[in-house]
Amino acid sequence: MRIRTLTGAVAAVLVLSGPVVDGQAVAVKTADTAAPAGDTRVLTYDTSRAGEFASAVDRGAAVWNDSVDAVELRPVKAGDSADIRIVVDAGWPRSVPGSLGGGTVYFGRQAVAEGHDTVRIAAHELGHMLGLPDRKPGPCSSLMSGASAGPSCTSARPNAAERAEIEQKFEQAPAGLFT
Ligand SMILES: [Zn+2]
Repeated sequence: MRIRTLTGAVAAVLVLSGPVVDGQAVAVKTADTAAPAGDTRVLTYDTSRAGEFASAVDRGAAVWNDSVDAVELRPVKAGDSADIRIVVDAGWPRSVPGSLGGGTVYFGRQAVAEGHDTVRIAAHELGHMLGLPDRKPGPCSSLMSGASAGPSCTSARPNAAERAEIEQKFEQAPAGLFT
């Protein structure tokens, strides 16, 4: 009677240890496939069709590089395919995102003609490429408030919440999204 009880206790311990081992195996697999926390993702951008706004795009990208750690925007090497393409046109500036960190920015001249700051426009549209939505209407301190802050707003810096959102998005994104 006493031996049977002990045997039962040993069996229970074995059953309990099974799922724990499985759980650890799953956790290790997840950690291997996800981007390690703090790893910087490099996204390339192409200003060869950005016309007179190429330098504004470089400055907008530099603002993001100064503001966040999880992602870095770099000019693409000539002849390579970029994650982000910037194309000048006559309309209102707008973004056509692809997967996270990719797509096309149409750098429309209309907003510039109405007095909006070119570096703020560039940083705002790159914010869309990084996965941020518009937050309109909003104050000048918000980058994603865009044109709603008025043409006198020349701030191209993402605010703390916008920076945190990007850090979180890119730290959590699986590596496969960026290949
Ligand atoms: Zn926008």
